[in-house]
Amino acid sequence: MFDYFDIHSHLYFPDFDADRVDEIEKLKENKIAAITVGTDLQSSQKAIALADARNNLFATVGQHPGEVTTDSKIDDISSIFEKLAENKKVVAVGECGLDYFRMDKNDTELKNIQKRIFEKHIELALKLDKPLMLHIRPQKGTMDAYHDALEILENYGGNNYGGNASVRELHRGEASVKLRGNAHFFVGDLDVLQRFLALGFTISFTGVITFTHDYDEVIRQVPLEMIMSETDAPLVAPVPYRGKRNSPLYVPEVVKKIVELRGEDFEVVRKQMVENALRVFSISS
Ligand SMILES: [Zn+2]
Repeated sequence: MFDYFDIHSHLYFPDFDADRVDEIEKLKENKIAAITVGTDLQSSQKAIALADARNNLFATVGQHPGEVTTDSKIDDISSIFEKLAENKKVVAVGECGLDYFRMDKNDTELKNIQKRIFEKHIELALKLDKPLMLHIRPQKGTMDAYHDALEILENYGGNNYGGNASVRELHRGEASVKLRGNAHFFVGDLDVLQRFLALGFTISFTGVITFTHDYDEVIRQVPLEMIMSETDAPLVAPVPYRGKRNSPLYVPEVVKKIVELRGEDFEVVRKQMVENALRVFSISS
């Protein structure tokens, strides 16, 4: 049904205002499916509107952690997003998670608010039995946000994980087996990768991998059925489109790079990337 799957894009950005309909038409012609990811209430609504009635577009709804402030209302998350998330075209909850990149590293108040809001998303995903679309960005040169996010996820994941026993107690049973999702724009190390894999989470990579070698080894270490392709369009266009507006149309460049790094057969990898997306986001072909 689809030849490629861009599992993370933002087609509602103003960057696409002039030619959005044409661009979506080109995606269809090229058999490219795309998930349009919400980052707040408004963009989540726009994502659903775009996905509605288009077979190759899907949506997610959530609150981007980078836009969380000390004024953000933690308890509003479920009431804001639950109704939206029930929509059939909504294939994940997020993007949600922790973003410490632009934060003062001692700002524990803001970190705590991000964590509480992240937990609200996890609880919503468990309640609706949908996967999480994770955005985790650590401070430069550290893995801090990954370590904090994994600690939270492992608590909800139950089973063999350490951490807060009372949280684990609350989420034991049916809910604990449903926790699942994908770590988007992965910039973690091998240890972080192994912890996500142990939780059953997939990993996705953007066009960044076409112009840095930083993730080469991680990309080789992900089992083929646990890796997915994304663009994060309109941001970070891959080579040879660098500096231009990015588009889900360029997702084949990400797949090509993954194939090159892993030394596997192109068709095998291409098909598996699509199958992984259909599986993780419960999309029937
Ligand atoms: Zn995004």
